[in-house]
Amino acid sequence: MKQEQIAVIGAGVIGCAIAWALSREGRQVLVLDRAPPGMAGASFGNVGHIAAELVQPLPSRSLLLGFWRELYVLGGALDIPLRRIPALLPWARRFAAATALRETNTRHLAPLVAPAVDETARLLAEIGKPGLLRRNGHYEVWRGRKARKLCAAQATATARLGIPTEPAGAEWLRGLAASISAAAPPGDFAALKFTGTGHVTDPWQVVQALVDAAMLRGARIARAEVRSIEVHPDRVDVRTTGGVEHAGTVVIAAGAWAAPLLEGLGLRVPLEAARGYHVELAGADPVADAPILYADHHIVVTPMAGRLRASSYMDFVGLDAPPDSRKIDRLLQRLGRLGYDCSRAGAPWWGPRPVLPDYLPGIGRVPDTRVFYAIGHQHIGLTLAAVTAQLLADLVAQRTPRHDVRPFDLRRFGVPGRRVTV
Ligand SMILES: Cc1cc2nc3c(=O)[nH]c(=O)nc-3n(C[C@H](O)[C@H](O)[C@H](O)COP(=O)(O)OP(=O)(O)OC[C@H]3O[C@@H](n4cnc5c(N)ncnc54)[C@H](O)[C@@H]3O)c2cc1C
Repeated sequence: MKQEQIAVIGAGVIGCAIAWALSREGRQVLVLDRAPPGMAGASFGNVGHIAAELVQPLPSRSLLLGFWRELYVLGGALDIPLRRIPALLPWARRFAAATALRETNTRHLAPLVAPAVDETARLLAEIGKPGLLRRNGHYEVWRGRKARKLCAAQATATARLGIPTEPAGAEWLRGLAASISAAAPPGDFAALKFTGTGHVTDPWQVVQALVDAAMLRGARIARAEVRSIEVHPDRVDVRTTGGVEHAGTVVIAAGAWAAPLLEGLGLRVPLEAARGYHVELAGADPVADAPILYADHHIVVTPMAGRLRASSYMDFVGLDAPPDSRKIDRLLQRLGRLGYDCSRAGAPWWGPRPVLPDYLPGIGRVPDTRVFYAIGHQHIGLTLAAVTAQLLADLVAQRTPRHDVRPFDLRRFGVPGRRVTV
């Protein structure tokens, strides 16, 4: 019997992990993207951290009240241009409302995030690339008069959430201080080591390995932009720049660009793009074989194959805004002050994190259709790729998903899905 085709829209880490999970189950998969896999979205340029510690969604009362301290103009990582405020207001209102639900939403998110290192290890072992993952934890570093106090407060907060940490060793701190004070006056340091996290040595290679593995099981990759999705009683038509693809099932995994595709199906989604930047330092010495979050500088530096990748910023500038060269300059300046040799910095990169206002992902099904979605993975899409792929494979197969996905249904934003059969 001829199998139905499953079209996965979006070849970022989420779409490709789903494509692998479906292909592994013997399904006939077609992945559609306007660019080569892993190249066009956040999955290319993220900083590779398997952030098993980020079990709490971002919206919190303290951030709501103190967000102005994080603004770019005051030295922080958050940029909200004045021109975007009217368009952002409804999203910001929902963000504010989500602060009151933080405990509940942590209960929903934590079971997906906490096992992320094991889940990523399982996924990479399945596709024959276990070496892409390093399970060395990561460090969070503070500098200055309040460093110790801030470090102790973070240790208490993480302990309360059951996240394993330990003080960074004195020797490691001495090495860090030496590398930093070569470029800046010495100061107090404090650092916390997170022992249950990890990183990948190249996020793009993770996507490529997923694609290769899915293709070995028969998946096809097609390069085309998806314009719309039409649901019929017996099939779903995916209209692309290259023609129409007929599918039995469709999975929308289009990252920060997913909203128009869902809106065409009656689901209006408050999806925003939070742009981040990275720069890479070829051949630079890592201070550790693990990511380091410089908390006061809002910078994460991760050792990757043959280079360091440093990332920062959360820009709500809109998807199509031109890049801001001041941000790249400031990132390089700060890295220089942290003791990194920026003389061989490569071309900068910027890309959009797909963020829903409550910072929970959108995982579910468009009502009354065979169209599923996996979007809004915010700052932790690489972290959640393995578990999301399992959930989607369960949903497509009509098995009970291994985690409760009802909190991730996009109808939580109060926009009822309408029947879309034509
Ligand atoms: C600077 C930065 C650092 C980050 N660091 C980390 C980290 O350390 N750890 C972590 O877990 N996460 C991190 N993230 C977040 C993570 O990268 C994202 O959550 C994740 O990559 C989202 O994956 P995705 O597949 O949903 O989207 P994307 O990777 O953006 O992929 C979406 C794909 O869909 C395609 N597409 C969209 N619309 C269409 C259409 N209509 N037709 C055809 N194709 C379409 C795009 O071309 C793109 O290839 C970071 C993000 C940024 C920006």
